[in-house]
Amino acid sequence: MAYPRDEIDRVRERTDLVELASEITKVKRSGRSVMAVCPFHQEKTPSLSIDGARGLYHCFGCGKSGDVFRWVQETQSVDFRDSVELLARRAGVTLTEEPGAAQRRGRREELIKVTTAAVEFYGKRLKKADDAASARRYLRNRGYDADVVDKVRDRLLSRRLGRVDPPPHPQGLHREDADDRRSVVTQPPRTPHR
Ligand SMILES: [Zn+2]
Repeated sequence: MAYPRDEIDRVRERTDLVELASEITKVKRSGRSVMAVCPFHQEKTPSLSIDGARGLYHCFGCGKSGDVFRWVQETQSVDFRDSVELLARRAGVTLTEEPGAAQRRGRREELIKVTTAAVEFYGKRLKKADDAASARRYLRNRGYDADVVDKVRDRLLSRRLGRVDPPPHPQGLHREDADDRRSVVTQPPRTPHR
């Protein structure tokens, strides 16, 4: 966590989720209960319940729920850190980065750069290098062409190494057939290659 817990809590306390929600969707108050038209699924009648006092939401239609930070992450497609910064600005809370956080982030950026270069390098080698011929032959025998290299590379790079998304998953590498999919994931290569 890049920011101290108490600052994050202060941002949370000073953020009115009902107000936040009303900026992007229709909110209906009746007494103490607040219902909103859910921005996460298609609906006309509000089924998203907002607990303004606790800063929590829950949708009875699609099951999405969370706090003010989750709300910003989901509605603006940002990560947790960005959601904290965004709401801090909005609430007028000054954030101080924890010692070492900037350094950790710098190291992370460096690792992303190095990994990106490695992915490019090995992708190119797999497609062109003479000594990768047996690997190419193996992939062709399994029904994969050169496109799959680009596809995997793009997926890896676009994920920015697990920044927000779930960890890389072999999906998209596979042929249509489910049995085949299983065999690709779980079985060692049938023809050993060097
Ligand atoms: Zn919903």
